[in-house]
Amino acid sequence: MHSSDLRALDSAHHLHPFTDFKALGEEGSRIVTHAEGVYIHDSEGHRILDGMAGLWCVNLGYGRAELVEAATAQLHELPYYNNFFKTTHPPAVKLAEKLCQLAPAHINHVFFTGSGSEANDTVLRMVRRYWALKGKPDKQWIISRENAYHGSTVAGMSLGGMAPMHAQGGPLVPAISHVRQPYWFGEGRDQSPEAFGRTCAEAIEARILELGEDNVAAFIAEPVQGAGGAIMPPASYWPAVKEVLAKYDILLVVDEVICGFGRLGEWFGSQHYDLEPDLMPIAKGLSSGYLPIGGVLVGDRVAETLIEEGGEFFHGFTYSGHPVCAAVALKNLEIMQAEGVVERVRDDLGPYLAERWMSLAEHPLVGEVRSLGLMGALELVADKTSRARFDKRLAAGNLCRDICFASGLVMRSVGDTMIIAPPLTITHHEIDELVSLARRALDETAARLAHIVQEEITA
Ligand SMILES: *Cc1c(COP(=O)(O)O)cnc(C)c1O
Repeated sequence: MHSSDLRALDSAHHLHPFTDFKALGEEGSRIVTHAEGVYIHDSEGHRILDGMAGLWCVNLGYGRAELVEAATAQLHELPYYNNFFKTTHPPAVKLAEKLCQLAPAHINHVFFTGSGSEANDTVLRMVRRYWALKGKPDKQWIISRENAYHGSTVAGMSLGGMAPMHAQGGPLVPAISHVRQPYWFGEGRDQSPEAFGRTCAEAIEARILELGEDNVAAFIAEPVQGAGGAIMPPASYWPAVKEVLAKYDILLVVDEVICGFGRLGEWFGSQHYDLEPDLMPIAKGLSSGYLPIGGVLVGDRVAETLIEEGGEFFHGFTYSGHPVCAAVALKNLEIMQAEGVVERVRDDLGPYLAERWMSLAEHPLVGEVRSLGLMGALELVADKTSRARFDKRLAAGNLCRDICFASGLVMRSVGDTMIIAPPLTITHHEIDELVSLARRALDETAARLAHIVQEEITA
């Protein structure tokens, strides 16, 4: 089928996720046809460096034959069976064991789901169930953060703090309260980063006191906000949050959907920030995105209560622990271990990316550069000295993203924050290429923005 025909059919019948249907229908989609390593290819013959690892998930890169073979073998052996009604199967058991070996020592159980959103739905139900079993049914409130992303189901988006999502789709899940995010460049520049990190932790304590400790069930957060804009909190933030949570009897949920599986140079972001979560939702990199699978890693405190005192937990999905997805996830983790992928991100690739990425700090369009492991962000600014933002109507970030795509790089925009999270298998040479493509795109973005501003002045 011709790509123009595919594009027409796509416009006619396909409603894309997170998309202005009408605008895309008029413009037409880019058709991605195949991929290898860190590169995707489109139907027009372009090769594009995937600086986002798909959607933060293709951690081992594209074209890994071992993952294909693991899927094929499992499809032959047992393509589907469920884990309801006192049954199990080898892939689910082996994956559960492997995950509990990799997770922090106090985590020894996992509940499987099909996605990160379903993992957070599971979190919501488990947290409230836990407190009900503890004889504290009033502990219902979950404190989350503005601009957090926890998925797109009703529970996921209610837990998340994305204002445009909250504005659509009617009443949210009740008893979820959002506090400010530790986004220093965007919201904290009247303080030092250290002071701002503490201010954000104090906001959590203030909210706990406002709601009443006896009504608060849990605090949920990503170690580093991903979809919100690759926001690494100030160094003071997590230690101060830990102190606050330790004062009150509140569960800690750390959403590891992006930060888990090596992104920050540890198996889990919680290990990087020295956190002891009660629950860790996971997905994305768990299978390197080859097949959909997620889950919740459950710490001993919650697991023991659910097991010992809970009776039947009326919750689960048809595809919880799907055997083919589990087999691929297991193989993915085995490869990561065998190849030392996580250690390489921590000791080699992360520091190398940081050094090369920092070279973009000199660019006139860039107000801040940051990175951690293989996640990075650039803040676009209209004025380098004052670091003032562009007029929102210019949509500078989207312009830069489109220029990147057209010139062979996937770099995502969140407002005027440009973000990257490439496959963890990227080489030094490919990092050089990524940074040089980004620099060229910044040059072109600057030129185009100057042109638009000049035209406005003339008109
Ligand atoms: C992507 C994401 C989710 C949702 O995962 P899906 O598989 O898309 O449902 C949840 N939390 C975080 C932090 C994510 O980045």
